[in-house]
This record gives sequence, C-alpha cells and structure tokens, in this order.
Amino acid sequence: MNTAKAHIKNFGCQMNKLDAALVAAALKKAGFSLCDDDRAADVVIINTCSVRDHAEQKVLSHLGNLKHAKKSRPDLVVAVIGCMAQRLGSKLLEHQAVDIVCGPAQIPQITQLISAALTDRKKFVAVTEDIRRADPNNAALEDFESLYDSDDKQIPSQAFVRVMRGCDNFCTYCIVPYVRGPEVSRPPDAIIEQLKRLAGQGVKLVTLLGQTVNSYQYKAGERTYCLADILEMAAGIPGIEWLRFITNYPQQKHFDPICRAMAALPKVCNYLHIPAQSGSDRILKAMNRRYTAAEYLALLDAARSIIPNIAIAGDFIVGFPGETEDDFQQTVELVRKALYKNCFVFKYSPRPGTTADKRLPESVSAEIKQKRNIELLAVQETISAELSAQFLNKQVTVLVEGPSKKPHLNKAENQNHPQLVSRTADDWIAVFNGPESLAGKFANVRITKTSPLTLFAQLL
Ligand code: SAM
Ligand code: SF4
Repeated sequence: MNTAKAHIKNFGCQMNKLDAALVAAALKKAGFSLCDDDRAADVVIINTCSVRDHAEQKVLSHLGNLKHAKKSRPDLVVAVIGCMAQRLGSKLLEHQAVDIVCGPAQIPQITQLISAALTDRKKFVAVTEDIRRADPNNAALEDFESLYDSDDKQIPSQAFVRVMRGCDNFCTYCIVPYVRGPEVSRPPDAIIEQLKRLAGQGVKLVTLLGQTVNSYQYKAGERTYCLADILEMAAGIPGIEWLRFITNYPQQKHFDPICRAMAALPKVCNYLHIPAQSGSDRILKAMNRRYTAAEYLALLDAARSIIPNIAIAGDFIVGFPGETEDDFQQTVELVRKALYKNCFVFKYSPRPGTTADKRLPESVSAEIKQKRNIELLAVQETISAELSAQFLNKQVTVLVEGPSKKPHLNKAENQNHPQLVSRTADDWIAVFNGPESLAGKFANVRITKTSPLTLFAQLL
C-alpha cells in the first residue's frame, strides 16, 4: 500500500473529467491520498487534451512550472496521461519535468507506474504503438472503467458513465481517432451494473458519454442494443432520476429510436448536444462530416416533432481551411435556423497528423477567425436570450450543484444564504440563494430574471 499524496490536474472535456475521476478512484484504492494543492503532493498527474493546440500549450506551460518546482522537490513524480501522452509518447519523456507518460489504453497501469517511479526513481513510458489497431476487447480497460465510484470532488449526486470509447469518423480536423483509438461500445450489462452501483451511492443524474454516443451499438447473441435500449434500461433503475447523453453525431441511424426514448421516458432529459461544425456544405464535405446543412436541420426538425420542447446545443469550428466569408455566412444562417439553447464556437486549430493538417493549408487569419468567433457567438446570444426569456415567472425543478464560484449579483434575493448554481433538466443554468445543504438535491424554483446563459431564480 502507498501513503503518498497525489494531485490530479485535469485539462479538457467531460471525457477527461471522467478519466480523472477513474484515476482518482484507482489511486484511492491503492492507498494514495488525494490533495488539492500540488505543492503538498508527492505525485502530480496531468490529464491532457490534444483537441486544440491551445490545450496542449496550457499543459506545456504547467509542465514548465513543475520543472521549476522539481528543483526544490527533486523527489516529486510527474505523470502525464491522456491524449497528449498518446500523441507525443516518449517525446514527452524528454521534458525534464516528466517521469511517466501513460496513454489512455494503458491507464489501468497508472498506479503501478507511479509506485514504481516513487520507489525506483526511474522514468516510464506506456503508450500503444499503433492505437488504430488497439484490442477492442481490452479487458483491463473495461475492469478499470467499472471501478468508478463517484469521486468526492465530483458535483454531488452527478456522475458520468462512458458507454463507448474511441471514434471511427475521422473528421479531417480531429485528433480524437488518432489518440483514443477505434470506436468500441461497452457491454450493456457492465453499464447497467455501474449505474445501479452509482444509484446506490446517491447519484441522481447520470450523463452517458461517447464521442458519437448515438452510434452506440452492442451485439450480444441474437440481440443488438442501441443507445435507446440503454436509456430504457437505465430509466428503470430506482434512484436515477435524470439521464443525459453527449455527444451526438448528426446521423439518421438510431436517431428516431433515441428521440422516441426521450419522449417516452420522463427520466431522459429533453436535451440534445448535436454539433453541426459548419453551415456550408462545401466546408462540411472538406471536414468529412457526412451530412449537408439541410440534412442536419431536418434532423433537428425531426427531433422537435417528437419532443417539441427539446433544448438543443451545438458546436462550430470557424476558420477551417478554405472557409470564405460566404461559407461563414451560411454557418450564421444555420445558427439562426437551428435555435440552439447554446453553442460552443472554436477557432480551427491544425492538429498534426490529421488529414486537414496534411492536405489543407490554413487560409483564414487569426484575426478573421477571432472576428467570426465573436460574430457567431453574438448571433447565438440573441437566440439564447429569446429562449431563456420564455422561462420568466415559470416554476422549474433544478438539480443543485453547489455554491457559485463567481456569484452573480442578485440583490433582491435572500442574502442570508450563498448563491447556488443549479441546472434544469434541459441543462439551463439557474442560480438562486439558498442553503448549501441543497447541494446534490432537487429543488423547485421560480425564475425571476433571465439572461442569455443564466436564469436567476427564487427558491420556493
Ligand atoms: N465527438 C464530438 C463531435 O463529433 O462533435 C466532439 C469531439 S471534440 C473533443 C469537441 C469539439 O471540439 C468538436 O465538436 C469540434 O467543434 C471541436 N474541435 C475538434 N477538433 C478541432 C480542431 N482541430 N480545431 C478546433 N476545434 C476542434
Ligand atoms: Fe472527432 Fe469527428 Fe470523432 Fe467527433 S466525430 S470525435 S469531431 S472525429
């Protein structure tokens, strides 16, 4: 058993937050204690993201700080895990700060690698040589995945559960298929067992995760399970009250059953995150997204015809190679028509080894990318403001996350209590003053004021 103190620093998406929680659970099981302050740690684990260059730069700058820290604490062990570990492999080990490089498929070995580095003072690299040929039935990875119990640091009563790993879509800009390997769906019984265990620990909201979660498909004997089947089985678990799933690829396959499951199962939140990436067919083709803007909008219409009050969120990339002002205006047009609750806009960032990076030279300047980013968000802000205004004076049920990190001013409300952050089933953020003991619980609130991204509420 170890008694060392470990600090985990996470970069990146929900998928990475889940990986960090899995590693935290494994470390605790192996006897490590977790600490919030990296200055008090014997081991620092950096969970990295490679989706955009900016994310990698943040990791490198953090490693720079750790290199300095190691001057006065030479025994400190630094492990780099996640996408960057897989992408750069032994090159990362050349960094003076780094002792361990461990890729996503080797994550079950992380506690042994750390223990060995602490005792032997050696450097280790564990990454898959050819990730696209990785074993789809990686039993060690599956066992590691099902170790997960909600970590103390997660938002109370909420958990993420991965239903599939990897991606086979090869969007030309995207690094994910090269660092996370081929698409593999997890067995339904393993997912459901995990959900039951989480429900037993008091988890009320589960978000099912997959890079293209709606592609989930698992063949067991004669039967093939899709995401709608998982949603139905999960909705039968007492204690689980809300279910969400992210992220969806715009495709016909399985779409209708998933929407029908959402309409039929009250526990499945009426929320769909379905990135379009662009509104220009020319750019979508260059991105290897296999739909047109019209087909994408038809999917949204189909979803709305089954679930009229569904909240939809999207992602866009601006400044993809070859994107002209006309292409961009088609994206603006799509955003106007899609009526998203919110959308995330990213500036194109070339990723080494991707098809776009190899074949499509950058053609949009940093200034134009920035201008398009601001313009698209402004268009969305107007739409979000109109949609959020519909909540005014309405009573809604929210799941409380905890105290606001940056409390919004709302002087009229109950100032004896801190401001709490909560979310509606369809993922709107609602803030209100209330007792901290509500964290992790459902509450009924009335919306008293709205802004594009935040609802201001009063506890009922
Ligand atoms: N699997 C999801 C999908 O297909 O939409 C999301 C994967 S990715 C981690 C999250 C978002 O990052 C994408 O939706 C895309 O908008 C953005 N993204 C991916 N690669 C990018 C790149 N090279 N430059 C800028 N944004 C990128
Ligand atoms: Fe990347 Fe496309 Fe796969 Fe999403 S679907 S992870 S954007 S390759």
